[in-house]
Amino acid sequence: MRLTLLYSAILALTLIGFGGVLYLTISQVGVNLVKNTLAEEAKRLVETKEFRLDNVDFPASKVAAPQTYVQTRDANGAVLDQSPNLRANDFTLPLSETALQTVRQGQSSTETAATNSGRLLIYNKPVTKNGQVIGILQVARPLTEQDQSLNTLGMILLIGGVVVLLVACGIGWLLAGAALRPIHRLTRTAQAIGQERDFARRVDYRRPPDEVGHLAATFNTMLTELEAAYRQTQQTLQAQRRFVADASHELRNPLTTIRGNLALLQREPPISEPDRRAALADMVEETERMSRLVSDLLLLARADAGQPLRRGSVPLKPLVEELCRQVRLLDPDRPLDCESVADVAVLGDRDALKQVLINLLDNARKFTPAGRAVRVSTSLAGGRVAIHIEDSGPGIPDAELAHIFERFYRSDATRTGGGAGLGLAIAKTLTEVQQGTIAVESRVGQGSTFSVTLPLAPVPPEPATHPAHGEGARTRV
Ligand code: ADP
Repeated sequence: MRLTLLYSAILALTLIGFGGVLYLTISQVGVNLVKNTLAEEAKRLVETKEFRLDNVDFPASKVAAPQTYVQTRDANGAVLDQSPNLRANDFTLPLSETALQTVRQGQSSTETAATNSGRLLIYNKPVTKNGQVIGILQVARPLTEQDQSLNTLGMILLIGGVVVLLVACGIGWLLAGAALRPIHRLTRTAQAIGQERDFARRVDYRRPPDEVGHLAATFNTMLTELEAAYRQTQQTLQAQRRFVADASHELRNPLTTIRGNLALLQREPPISEPDRRAALADMVEETERMSRLVSDLLLLARADAGQPLRRGSVPLKPLVEELCRQVRLLDPDRPLDCESVADVAVLGDRDALKQVLINLLDNARKFTPAGRAVRVSTSLAGGRVAIHIEDSGPGIPDAELAHIFERFYRSDATRTGGGAGLGLAIAKTLTEVQQGTIAVESRVGQGSTFSVTLPLAPVPPEPATHPAHGEGARTRV
C-alpha cells in the first residue's frame, strides 16, 4: 500500500507539473498569436493614407476584421473615436494609467480587459507626428476562442490526469501485491513453523532466482540447518534423559540393599551374629559398587565436558607391561600373553589410555572363563597403532554388538553381574577424546577382540648412537 501510494504521489506530481507547463505554454502561445495579429492590424491602420485619429470608421471597416474593435484617444487619453462595432455595444476600450504612460513614451503596450462576453486583448499603439505622440490607437480582439480551447484543455488534463492516476494506482497495487506475494508466503511459513515447530517444512518458490528467490533459498537453507540442529538437540536431550534415568536406577539398587540391611541391623531383638556379618558384608560390597559407579559417572561427565587432556607421547610397551603385571597379580591362573606389543609411543593422554586398557582387560577377564587365554598385541598402519585385546570368551552376538558401547548397556546374560554397563562407554569416550577409535570383532563361542587405534607420537630427533630395533624401527621409517 505504501509503495503504491508513493509511486502514485510521484506520478500525480509529474502529471500536475506537466499539465501546468502545457496549460501555461498553450495559453501564452494563444495570446501571443492574437497580440501579433493586433500589432499588425494597428500598424496597417496607421500606415493607411486615410487614417485620422478622429475618424476610424473608414479605415477600420476596410483594414480590420469584423471581430476587431478600434478606438482612438488623444495624447491625454481622452477617447476621440470608436469603430461602429464598439459604438453599437456602447463599450469603451479601457486604458490603464501604466499603459498610458508607456504609450506616451512612444512604446506600444498590451493589456486584457474583462467584459460580459469574455476577455478582450487590447493593443495600444502611439500615433506620432514629427516625433511627437499626438494620440493613441487601441485595437482589441476577444480572447473567447483561446479561452474556450484552454478550458477544454484544462478539463482534458484534469479528467485524464485523475483517470491515469486511478489506473496507475490500481495496476501498481496489483503488481506490488504480485511481487510481494512470495514474501507473504515466507511470512506465513515462518509463522506456521514457529507455531508447529515443524522444521521439515520448506518455502515453495519456483520463480526465477531474483531477490525474493534468494530470500526463499536462504530461508530454506536456514530451515535445513535449524532442522538438523533441532534434531540433534532432541537426540542429545533424549540421551541425557535416558542417562539420568539409568544413573538414578543404578544408584537406587545399592541404596535399597544398604537400607534393607540397616533395618536388619536395627532389629530388636538383634539378629544372629552370622546374619549381622552377612548384612555388613553386603553393605560393604554395595558401597564399593556405588563408589565405582559414581567415579565412572564422574569420569564420563568430565570427558563429556571436554576437560583438557594432557596429550603427549606415551610409550606403549611399558604401559601394557605394567597393566599385565597387575592382571597377573589379580588372576594368577589366567594365561596372559603380552609379548607382541610394539615398542612405540602413541600420541595421547597416559591416564586416559590406561583407563581404556584397564576397562578392556577387566572385561576380557570378567567374561572369559577361568583358565582361558587373553592376549594383548599391536599392529601398525598409516601412522597409527592398533592395540588389540583378544579373549577366548563366549563372544558377543551380532544383535548386541551395535549396543555394547552405549552407556548402561549390559547384555541380558551379564545383567546380574557387578558392572553397570559403563566400562565400554567410558573406553569409547576416552579413546575418542584422544582422537582415536575403538572397534570390536567377535565370534560367538570363540572370543572377542577389542581394538583401540591411536595416532603414533611424532618421533623426537634421535641421538646417532641410539640403536633402532623391532617394530619401533619400522614406525620411524
Ligand atoms: P560392564 O562395565 O557392566 O562390564 P561394559 O560396558 O564393559 O559393561 O560391557 C557391556 C556389555 O558388553 C557387557 O554386559 C557384555 O555383555 C559385553 N561385553 C563386553 N566385553 C565383553 C567381552 N570381552 N566378551 C563378551 N562380552 C563382552
